Amino acid sequence: MPTKTLLQETQDLLIVGAGCSGLSLARELALRGYRGKVVLLDQRTAFSNDKTWSYWAKKESRWHQLAEHYWDSCEISLRGGHRQQCDFHAYDYCSLPADTFYQDACSLIDLGGYTVELGQTVQTIEAIDDPPAKFKVTTTGGKIFFAKQLIECNARYQSADYYQVFYGEEWLLHEPLPDWRRAGLMTELVSDEGGTEFIYWLALAPDRVLVEPTRFTQHIVDPEILQTKIEIWMTQYGLAPAQCIRHEAGVLPMGRVNSGHTSWPRAGLAAGALRASSGYGFLAMQHWAAATAEQWIRTGRLETVDTYHPSVRFLDALFIKVLINQPRLGGDILSQVARALPDDGFARFMAGEASVKDWLNVIMAMPKIPFIQALCQPRGFIN
Ligand SMILES: Cc1cc2nc3c(=O)[nH]c(=O)nc-3n(C[C@H](O)[C@H](O)[C@H](O)COP(=O)(O)OP(=O)(O)OC[C@H]3O[C@@H](n4cnc5c(N)ncnc54)[C@H](O)[C@@H]3O)c2cc1C
Repeated sequence: MPTKTLLQETQDLLIVGAGCSGLSLARELALRGYRGKVVLLDQRTAFSNDKTWSYWAKKESRWHQLAEHYWDSCEISLRGGHRQQCDFHAYDYCSLPADTFYQDACSLIDLGGYTVELGQTVQTIEAIDDPPAKFKVTTTGGKIFFAKQLIECNARYQSADYYQVFYGEEWLLHEPLPDWRRAGLMTELVSDEGGTEFIYWLALAPDRVLVEPTRFTQHIVDPEILQTKIEIWMTQYGLAPAQCIRHEAGVLPMGRVNSGHTSWPRAGLAAGALRASSGYGFLAMQHWAAATAEQWIRTGRLETVDTYHPSVRFLDALFIKVLINQPRLGGDILSQVARALPDDGFARFMAGEASVKDWLNVIMAMPKIPFIQALCQPRGFIN
C-alpha cells in the first residue's frame, strides 16, 4: 500500500497537466490578479526545451515579442511542381522555444502565488460530494488533492479522425546558408493512399536549420520512419550537416478528438485545440486560456470554451473528410490554399483570423466535386 499524504486543504482550482494549455490558463489567471488557491500537477520532474512552438503573430503583438525567431516569408511547394512564396506584411511566422514559454509562464504563476507540483503523476480523478471539495485526485505516489474545481490539461485522448505525424532534427551546418532568413512550411508536398507528406524546415541561423518531415494521415505511424527523409533532403539541397543538436517528434490529433466522457472540463490537445486543417494550436490555446480565465473570475464557472467559430470547425472538418476520402488530393489541395491566399491572406487564414473574402477565395479554389461528395455523405463525422 502506498503511504498517503492527505492534503486536507481544498484548492480552488486544480489544473492537471502543466504543459501548454495548463500553464497558459494559470498564466492568464495570474495576469488578471486572481488570488484563489491554484495548484498545477505534472508528471514531468523538470521543464525542458522539449519543443518549439511556431505560429503567425501580428507584428506588434505580445506573442511576436516573446518569439525567438521570425520569418516574413515562407515557401509552399509541390514535389517537382508548383512553388508558392508568401510574403507577410502585418504578420510574421514566429517560433518560440518551449523553455522561453515555460519561464515566462512560471514567473507569472509565481507572482500569482500558485503552486506547480512537478513529479506528480495523476492516477485517478473522482468527482465527489464532500463540500467544499468536488474533486479528489490521487497520484501514483499516493498523494491526494482535493479541489472545488478541476480541469484536465494532460493531452490524454483515445483516438482522432486524422493525425499529423512528424520527426524533426535541428542541425548545425559546416557551411553557412547563403540566404538563411527563410522558412519552408510545406515543401516537397506529395500524396498517396497513405496520406500527404511534406518537409517543414526553418533556417534558425546562418549555420542552423530545423528539418521536419511531416505526414498528414488517417493512420498512425511511428514518427521515426520519417527520419531518413532528413538526410535525403539535406543532400538534395547541398547542405553539409555537422552536428544534430536537438530532435522532436510527435503524433498529434487533427480534426475531431475522442477523449471519452468526463464530468469535468478538458482543454488543450485532448479537447481539439489543434486546428483540423493546419495542425496549429498554440495561439488558439492562448485565446482559450484568456477567455476561460475571464469566465472563471467573472462567474466562478469553468466550462469548455471553444475559441474556433462553429463555421471554422465545420469547414475544417469538411476539409479533413475530403483528405480521408481522397488522400491523393492532399498535396494539391494544400498548395491551392496557399495559391488562393497570397501573402497576409495566408497568414490570416493560418492564424485563424481569415476574413469572409479569404474564406471565399479558399472555397472557390477547392476542387468542387470531392467537397460536394463529402458534404452529401450520409454518415459523416461533421455535426
Ligand atoms: C514536438 C512538438 C512540436 C509542436 N509544435 C507546434 C507548433 O509549432 N505550433 C503549434 O501550434 N503546435 C505545436 N505542437 C502542438 C501543440 O501545440 C502542443 O502539443 C501543445 O503542447 C499541446 O498542449 P497541451 O496542453 O494539450 O499538452 P502538453 O503541452 O503536452 O501538456 C500536457 C501535460 O500533461 C502532463 N501529463 C500527462 N499525463 C499526466 C498525468 N497522468 N499526470 C500528471 N501530468 C500529466 C504532461 O507531462 C504535460 O506536461 C507541437 C507538439 C509537439 C509534441
